[in-house]
Amino acid sequence: AVAAVADIGLIGLAVMGQNLILNMNDNGFTVCAYNRTVSKVDHFLANEAKGTNIVGAHSIEEFCKKLKRPRKVMMLVKAGQAVDDFIDQVLPFLEKGDIIIDGGNSHFPDTIRRTKELEAKGFLFVGCGVSGGEEGARYGPSMMPGGSKEAWPHVKPIFQAIAAKVDGEPCCEWVGETGAGHYVKMVHNGIEYGDMQMICEAYHILKEALGLTADELGDIFTEWNQGELDSYLIEITRDILKFKDTDGSALVEHIKDTAGQKGTGKWTVVSALDNGMPVTLIGEAVFARCLSAIKDERVRASSILSGPNAKFTGDKKQFIRDVSKALYASKIISYAQGFMLMREAAKENGWHLNNAGIALMWRGGCIIRSVFLGDIKAAYTNNPELENLLFDPFFTKAVSEAAQGWRNVVSQGALLGVPTPAISSALAFFDGYRHAVLPANLLQAQRDYFGAHTYQRLDNESWVHTNWTGRG
Ligand code: NAP
Repeated sequence: AVAAVADIGLIGLAVMGQNLILNMNDNGFTVCAYNRTVSKVDHFLANEAKGTNIVGAHSIEEFCKKLKRPRKVMMLVKAGQAVDDFIDQVLPFLEKGDIIIDGGNSHFPDTIRRTKELEAKGFLFVGCGVSGGEEGARYGPSMMPGGSKEAWPHVKPIFQAIAAKVDGEPCCEWVGETGAGHYVKMVHNGIEYGDMQMICEAYHILKEALGLTADELGDIFTEWNQGELDSYLIEITRDILKFKDTDGSALVEHIKDTAGQKGTGKWTVVSALDNGMPVTLIGEAVFARCLSAIKDERVRASSILSGPNAKFTGDKKQFIRDVSKALYASKIISYAQGFMLMREAAKENGWHLNNAGIALMWRGGCIIRSVFLGDIKAAYTNNPELENLLFDPFFTKAVSEAAQGWRNVVSQGALLGVPTPAISSALAFFDGYRHAVLPANLLQAQRDYFGAHTYQRLDNESWVHTNWTGRG
């Protein structure tokens, strides 16, 4: 008989799976490895896993038999059909109470469905967002698990051991029911799109308005990384700007300006639209990638459409400070919007999300890790019921102190003809959000005029229709 020796089994021996297995092994867990293309199991055991306690299996049956109960089967395979196929394959060899974990980038509606289907059959399911790429998986990812809560005590010791740590705290906490883990991972990816876009806009406007070189820009990012903007993305931007091509020029200036995307940013925006939440900054970040992708058309447009001839005439040093404030304020808006979306999705799906826990999970191990997320964690720890991040005294003050520089950058962008879609839409959101009265009164009148949709009166809240034209 095959002995049950492994604490957890992992299916999927591509980069993420292999690195997570090695990470688990480093932390003292015995892992059993399996892969659809079985030859990769032997290759892995003979190479990367040589000299470790990792075991392998050559069939699903052998794999399941090697797992201690309750069995924990974690998948790191391509999102989509492969996950459903493996669930079907392992089920005949599992018993009630066993746990299936999907650590891939699954879309949350699939995770909601899988959790419900498996729970109905007596199994436990965990959809766990894993962030941090290859390096994170190997030495400490950010992990966002959700699904069957009963599974958490069983997977917690393993997940919290392998996750990234910030000030000794693991960047892994229970997120919530059904698809909550993958949902939060999706929003994380959307926020990543936004953070990257804002940084690109800062680079663009400094380059065009002040005519700075990549090297000079690198110095600015070096300085920014020592203050409130301190984050992984600012740090790698500094390194990128300083990186030289073989001829000594900045490599970044030789890269074609068309952005790719895999879809998680788009999913976030689609979900924002579905939930009626104004997640404008991530929306602009996704559209900015779309606009970048139609390069040939932009090249034609550049010879047909002209912009202002204006030159920057202000104080350069002050403008650099203003751009850092614009970045900081826009970032606050983007995270406020992201948390607004998660709150609405939680209401919609019956999830009990822990906002401070989410900030903690994003604080380390992942692409959006930053000092700033520590401040968000503090805001939600001080007040778990905080209605909006912008209502936290720290952020209310931060945004107000940054406002002047932020407004200056948006105006300069408009005057000089340099696009700042994320930074300027963040300011538009801020100004809209802080208006008790918006012009939707006129909009409602228009809707009533052409479509008899009725409108609500301010004085007595009654819903009425007006005959605007006097015609019958
Ligand atoms: P991947 O390229 O997404 O997937 C390769 C793995 O999936 C292989 O083990 C492959 O098996 C298996 N697979 C593919 N199609 C299959 C099918 N139809 N049936 C059964 N197995 C199938 O691998 P990855 O980059 O390591 O990512 C794994 C998961 O983590 C994905 O969901 C990915 O989106 C997510 N993720 C990746 C990163 C990253 O930085 N790469 C970061 C976070 C999350 P074979 O060897 O037999 O082909």
